[in-house]
This record gives sequence, C-alpha cells and structure tokens, in this order.
Amino acid sequence: MPRRPARRVLMATIPWLVDVLRGAGVQVVVEGDWLNRMRPGSFDPIGVLWHHTASTSSASNPHPALGICINGRSDLAGPLCQALVDYNGVFHVISAGRCNHAGVSGGSGPIPAGDGNTLMIGWEIDYNGVDQQMTTAQYNASIAATAAVLTRLGRDSSYARGHRETSTTGKIDPSFIDLNVMRADVAAKMAGGSTAWSSIVDNMTSGRFTASANWGVSTFSTQRYGADYRYADPVAASDPAWYRFNVPATGTYRVEAWWPTNSGYNSATPYIVATTTGNRTVYVDQRATGGQWRVLGTFTVPAGDANRVAVSRWSNATGLVIADAVRLTRV
Ligand SMILES: [Zn+2]
Repeated sequence: MPRRPARRVLMATIPWLVDVLRGAGVQVVVEGDWLNRMRPGSFDPIGVLWHHTASTSSASNPHPALGICINGRSDLAGPLCQALVDYNGVFHVISAGRCNHAGVSGGSGPIPAGDGNTLMIGWEIDYNGVDQQMTTAQYNASIAATAAVLTRLGRDSSYARGHRETSTTGKIDPSFIDLNVMRADVAAKMAGGSTAWSSIVDNMTSGRFTASANWGVSTFSTQRYGADYRYADPVAASDPAWYRFNVPATGTYRVEAWWPTNSGYNSATPYIVATTTGNRTVYVDQRATGGQWRVLGTFTVPAGDANRVAVSRWSNATGLVIADAVRLTRV
C-alpha cells in the first residue's frame, strides 16, 4: 500500500538569529535555552513585526517586561516574542521559534491575512507607549536588527510592519513611530547606508522641554504626540517654549515638528531654530496638517547639548500656538 504523504507542518526555527543580530552590530543577550523555547505549531516567517510592551522602562529598569515575554501571562502562554528590546537598545533573544506575539494577521502590505505567529518574527520594544516613547537606542537597534533579519530572509523593507497594521483586534503598538519612516530607514540600512542620527524631544521629555507657566497643558486633540501638548495665546512678547537637543556634531540637520490640528489654532506659529549663524524663524499653519511630522527645513546646527528649537508666541495671527514635539535628523 502506498504510504499517505505526511501532512507538511512547517516547524522551522531561526537558529541564525543571534549571529545575524551580532553581525549587524546589535548588542545581544541570550536568554537561556532560546533555541528550544517556543510555542508548538507552524513557524515560517517572511517578515518582522514591531510591538511595544506597554511597560515603563528606564535606565535603572531597562527591561521590565522581559520576564513576561519569556514566561507569558495567565491568559497567553510564553514566549511572547523572539526578542525583547530594552531601554538601552540591547536585544534579549528569547526564542528561535514560534511565539505568541502577533495573533491573527488581517493582512498588511505584503504580509497576507493568516496566522501572524507563523508569518512574522516579533520584537517587543520595552516602553509604555502612552506617556513614554521609544528611546533612540531602541529605535536604532530595531532598525539595524530588522534590516539584517529581512536581508537573511530575502525580503525587502516592506516586510517590516507594526502590530497596529496587522492586528485585527485594534492593537495600537508601536506608538509614536511613523511606520513608513521606519520602513524607509530599514531600506536605507539594507542599502548599506547607516541610519542617520535622529532625536525627538516632546513637551513631556524629561529635562529637554522648557516653557513658562503661561503655556497650558492640553489633551484635547487625539492628534497629539505623546500624552499631551502645550498651548498659549499669541502675544507680542518673547515667551518661547524651548526644545533642548544633544547634537552630536556641527552639521546639517532636518528639523521637523509635530502638532495637533484645530481650526482654533494659529495660522502663523513661529518656530525658531538656533543655527550656527543665528536664529532662523519658520512660520507654520497649525490649523492644518496635524498629527504627523512636518519638515521646517534643513539648518546648520552647532554641536552640544543646548536649546535648539523653540515655539514662539510672537505671532501676528490669532489662535493658540501649540508646542508638541520636535525631531532633529542629521542629513
Ligand atoms: Zn503588539
């Protein structure tokens, strides 16, 4: 009697993960028996999925969700990701096989609808995503790791997705990340370019935002960056809100701003950029194009840790001026 062919069950693993990450310059900590820690079932990944853990990490507590990602929760068996990315950008490698991180994929980009845990490798990036954003170290390491893994898989940057793109249950992670920019950064990395230095200062970033008590705090617009933003009436006086950056070297930087939009906001809000040749002012219409990064221009910015960008109240237009988040990227 001919034998019935065995049903093909793909239980591949990715034992190359640690070597590929280290080869990309990513710091790795191997968490125990990662080669044999996995969920039963199929695993045949074609992409990489980014998450945030919803735990608050810090320099003194860099990976608060590590234990949960290894051991799981009462309602979801671990491991919960192939790697956890800690506050310092260190990859804690947990599993070479299938993990419970993605649930059902509704389909996103080239990732089809189906079993997300079969289709994707997951990074749980350890930040809370509500009033804490991803650190620059986490972002840069995650870009390098994603580029290296997709190169190994023979896939392009479009196979890097965020959980909020594939989820069928309304997941919001990873917060505060423009996933199209993420894919562009992965593509640049895969093309051999180094990821440019980039830093975000939000009005909630500790020690990097300064504004007088005349600036109120608002959570009104859902287009805000982070948990809230600041607002003030326009006035013919100097009372700017400053954003402080630790600029690594004197050079050319793209300056972008993020504000929530409202018809009651200012049509000519002045942003001031402190350049090597003095302050430059750019006016933006905060009644429009909110909830996204908008380029203010490229400027030569001096090295050092100092106030570099401000939102001024000195506008001739009516409506509240808004100070939310600012991003500098070396170009
Ligand atoms: Zn997630």
